[in-house]
Amino acid sequence: MRAVRWHGRRDVRFETVADAPPPGPRQVRLAVDWCGLCGTDLLEYQAGPIEIPTGEHPVTGRTAPVILGHEVSGRITDVGEDVAGGLAPGELVALNALIPCGDCAICRSGAYHRCPDFGHIGMSADGGLAELLTVPAQMVVRAPAGLDPAVAALAEPFAVAWHLVRRLEPPPDRRVLIVGAGSIGLATALILRAEGHRVTVADVGDERLAVPAALELGTRRADLDPPAGFADLTVDATGTGPGFALACAATRPGGTVGLAGLPGAPVPFDVADAAKRELTLVGSMSHRTTADLRPALAFLARHTDQAAALITGRVRLADTVPLGLDVLAGAERGRHIKILVTPGGTR
Ligand SMILES: [Zn+2]
Ligand SMILES: [Zn+2]
Repeated sequence: MRAVRWHGRRDVRFETVADAPPPGPRQVRLAVDWCGLCGTDLLEYQAGPIEIPTGEHPVTGRTAPVILGHEVSGRITDVGEDVAGGLAPGELVALNALIPCGDCAICRSGAYHRCPDFGHIGMSADGGLAELLTVPAQMVVRAPAGLDPAVAALAEPFAVAWHLVRRLEPPPDRRVLIVGAGSIGLATALILRAEGHRVTVADVGDERLAVPAALELGTRRADLDPPAGFADLTVDATGTGPGFALACAATRPGGTVGLAGLPGAPVPFDVADAAKRELTLVGSMSHRTTADLRPALAFLARHTDQAAALITGRVRLADTVPLGLDVLAGAERGRHIKILVTPGGTR
């Protein structure tokens, strides 16, 4: 099959590899419809390996090269033995990308998204930038009937946003500031707005705020400095020190700051200020299949047009690097929220 594999920093290749294997027990195989490119894919391309294992991964046993891609929609082609839930060939599904160890005390408690050893498809195991993908059936959620497969590929970022919103669970009618107009920030904004909150989005770049989905949400440039204490609830979806500082400063005394970004290094934080203003910091990591991915797909079915506005590019698998990763790394990056890749027609 054709696939896009990470071999090294700045060395991602469109190439022919062995087909994804037929599904074993409790596994299914998919024909990939769409796979979203994510900030983490870009980071692995530009600065990796970060999560991609160069020695054997403790859970998956894999090492580079690996097929990238973890934001996947596809149709089931084959179902292994002992698959629960009646999954059948032809069904459109989306995936939870996490591969927890399943064995540690945290996994056994059910909070497998906090497993210290977890891997991800598309990083520590082969992912969805390929024609075929074999995964554990428990990672798979059936898409609601009639959902556009391209929109279904947004399920992973929306599940991450859904998990964050459920971690925050704000009281009704909050004034919310989202810092970071990427896919996680805007998905979080769409969910919170649909739940009746007054949402503003800030970002550091102008271009991204000109993207229709961002404009429609009511946007504000970060360098305009939202007034201090502007929001009951803020979210840092930039994963940067300045983004986090902006979120903290914009939060009213007694308010809450949601942590959706993952800065690559420790960032400064004014503990005394946070203590005096009694801020609550809420961390959020990835998502769970039943609690988050399933309702995220239902949300996408109810809000398909708004979610589809996050899709700013569609490219063929063969063009993943020149028209996908290189665009996201280049001068045009601010014009994009989500570029989707399809292997359709490459075989
Ligand atoms: Zn992602
Ligand atoms: Zn574990």
